[in-house]
Amino acid sequence: MSEQTENTQTDQAIRRELSQWLEQNWSADRSLLQWRNILVDGGWAATSWPAAYFGRDYNREQSALVSEIFREKGAVGAASIGPRRLASETILAMGNDDQKRRYLRPILTGEHSWCQLFSEPGSGSDLAGLSTKAVFIDGQWIINGQKVWNTSAHHADYGILVARTNWELPKHQGISYFLIDMRQPGVVVRPLKQMNGHASFNEVFMTDAVVAAEDLVGEEGNGWAVATTTLSYERRGAAATLSGASSADKPREGRVYDEYRKELEIANEPYTWYPQRQGRVDLVMSRALETGAIANAAVRQEMAKLFCLSKGAVLAAQAAESKRKSGSNEIVPAGSIGKLAASVIARQAAHVHTMIAGADAMLSGPDSAQGGIVAEVLISVPAISIAGGTDEIQRNIISERVLGMPKEQRSDTGPFRDIKRNS
Ligand SMILES: Cc1cc2nc3c(=O)[nH]c(=O)nc-3n(C[C@H](O)[C@H](O)[C@H](O)COP(=O)(O)OP(=O)(O)OC[C@H]3O[C@@H](n4cnc5c(N)ncnc54)[C@H](O)[C@@H]3O)c2cc1C
Repeated sequence: MSEQTENTQTDQAIRRELSQWLEQNWSADRSLLQWRNILVDGGWAATSWPAAYFGRDYNREQSALVSEIFREKGAVGAASIGPRRLASETILAMGNDDQKRRYLRPILTGEHSWCQLFSEPGSGSDLAGLSTKAVFIDGQWIINGQKVWNTSAHHADYGILVARTNWELPKHQGISYFLIDMRQPGVVVRPLKQMNGHASFNEVFMTDAVVAAEDLVGEEGNGWAVATTTLSYERRGAAATLSGASSADKPREGRVYDEYRKELEIANEPYTWYPQRQGRVDLVMSRALETGAIANAAVRQEMAKLFCLSKGAVLAAQAAESKRKSGSNEIVPAGSIGKLAASVIARQAAHVHTMIAGADAMLSGPDSAQGGIVAEVLISVPAISIAGGTDEIQRNIISERVLGMPKEQRSDTGPFRDIKRNS
């Protein structure tokens, strides 16, 4: 039997099994939590996860098919927005059985939301230079320090945290990775207002905050390897909205939908400007036609450049994906290249929007072009070159790991305690 015939038969079997299961179990009259518990018990909440942890070991295509069937039936899927996904994928990859048992289920049901506590005022790109301190006292970890730019921390129940546990070792070796309860007196979260008017990020202050011994992920001192796992998911775009199974796009009635819409409203709030930070390439053609700017050859030239870049990025992602599927060992840092491409495209889109809008681009709010969207694009695109690792850092990764170019000169080897830093 050919591979294609085999895949089609598997797809048909999945469609049959899931449709039957939804027929028997899906009801919009339950509470969201009741429904999600049924979903998790049925093994349909995270089908790409291992069967031992709520999943079915499905590949990407099979999981996409599951999302598609959920959408067709109008059934609500597992909670999937925000840094939850970073936390769950990291716990799955690097956590122990006890952590997987305790934390994965409430992530899927939506009972727990998460944030990422990595960056500090003195260490963003140089994340391994972090100085938040974790000390083991009387059977628990005591945490002191400050984090910053923490998306969704103001909604979060838990945080994935990196902190220094050993100051005598070189910087990458003295870091440990923790799961911290955000709802405790030692943790204070303060929102930060951005230049685009939103407040998606926070400063997080930890003063004698407590982490239980069993919430250390991996071994003490092995936190850098765990953090790298989280960052690789972040570069692949797992930080914001993921996994299809959404039904909020159509007005539907029933308790599940009402509660789901409320959940989405809160969870999506930090991300409402994310489409704008990508440059809104989708609006460019209609804006050029509406405003007559299409008649200007210079505008057309820049639009063509934008569409080529945009299409090129899609094709490059597809090529990387088919290499991955064919089992090729070639090192393709698709995350870094894709992230860098997204920055270039967003900047070019902002440039084209400015050419089309002219002086109107300087207005903000509803007076500005496209009801304020164009102004929001212009002041939001810089974020895409920073979040999840800056453009320069992606270039460093590509040059060192793929092109084999010489590594950066370092002055930060040796015990962390002796390294000069701006704190
Ligand atoms: C939208 C958004 C969401 C974010 N969400 C989170 C979050 O949820 N949790 C979290 O912990 N953090 C988050 N961050 C923070 C983000 O990870 C950091 O801003 C980022 O890693 C850069 O660090 P920094 O801001 O300290 O800049 P710096 O590291 O100080 O960099 C300043 C400049 O120096 C350049 N530079 C630094 N080092 C090098 C080098 N070695 N070679 C060449 N150039 C270099 C950088 O490219 C940059 O241009 C978020 C940021 C944004 C914009």
